[in-house]
Amino acid sequence: MSTHLQRIREGIDAIMAAAIADPRNTTKPACKDGCFHCCKEPVYATKDEVIDSLTHEHREEVITNLRKWIATVQPSGLLNVGYPEAIKYRALQAWCPLLKAGRCSVYAQRPKECRFFISADAAVCADDTRRNAEAVFGTITAAIEYAALVEIKKVEDGGTMIADHLGVLLAKHLLNIELDSAMRLELNRESIR
Ligand code: SF4
Ligand code: SF4
Repeated sequence: MSTHLQRIREGIDAIMAAAIADPRNTTKPACKDGCFHCCKEPVYATKDEVIDSLTHEHREEVITNLRKWIATVQPSGLLNVGYPEAIKYRALQAWCPLLKAGRCSVYAQRPKECRFFISADAAVCADDTRRNAEAVFGTITAAIEYAALVEIKKVEDGGTMIADHLGVLLAKHLLNIELDSAMRLELNRESIR
């Protein structure tokens, strides 16, 4: 396991715990074990964090899930869109390939984006027609999230990272399939700002 990634994960977890405990945040997360509606959102990650999260034991199961993800998302055309609309993506019911029986199979090593994603209202998360970014991110202030991003950029490798849909990165790593993705360009442009 990468020490570098572990530092990022621990940094985010500490920032999120402080944000949740902050008395100025009067709403609190509804997130709990076994709640997983958020795992059909588009999820973006870096190549390093995806590879680092995988273990040999669950490789075959991830490959089975991944083939379903590719068969669902690729024909939709949403991989060719930079920042696909979350509601359109959720309508595909393209669950994250790392989800196993309603739980994240890589929870301790999950990508930073999943660590940020909390909600004050599980009912909003469950309803594919009501997605509302303010509700989803209700307990985190923009300032706290910005501080977390600054911390991440301090330890990331200055723009050489490869970021994309988690499924696209898995497809390359596990199946050696190159999927066209507009998000790779968008995310890597952001990382060098
Ligand atoms: S973000 Fe929403 S769906 Fe995900 S764990 Fe929290 S309440 Fe549940
Ligand atoms: S990596 Fe885990 S937490 Fe993130 S979307 Fe996939 S299953 Fe959900």
